[in-house]
Amino acid sequence: MADVIGPRLYACYNCRNHVALHDDIVSKRFMAGHRQRAFLFSHVMNLVAGPKKDRQLITGWYTIADVECSDCGEVLGWRYEKVNEESQKYKESKTVLEKFKIVKDNW
Ligand SMILES: [Zn+2]
Repeated sequence: MADVIGPRLYACYNCRNHVALHDDIVSKRFMAGHRQRAFLFSHVMNLVAGPKKDRQLITGWYTIADVECSDCGEVLGWRYEKVNEESQKYKESKTVLEKFKIVKDNW
């Protein structure tokens, strides 16, 4: 007899809107800012991207857009729209969600 296990989801900490699947995590060793831990996702859902903006970080130039929850409007992270640095290209089209802004659901 096999247990049926649904997909493990992450939800918005504010309204419990489902925003990402655990299986879509590319990296858990991510930092948002200096101390804040964050996850890099290959795919997200129920998020709305804001206007694009250019940022220069230690690792190069990026074009990013804040992503907010489609339900409550809380900013949960950002999406890498364009990455100039060759070694960082894997981040392109991927989304970073701050760890303290997402909660586990259905685990
Ligand atoms: Zn929300």
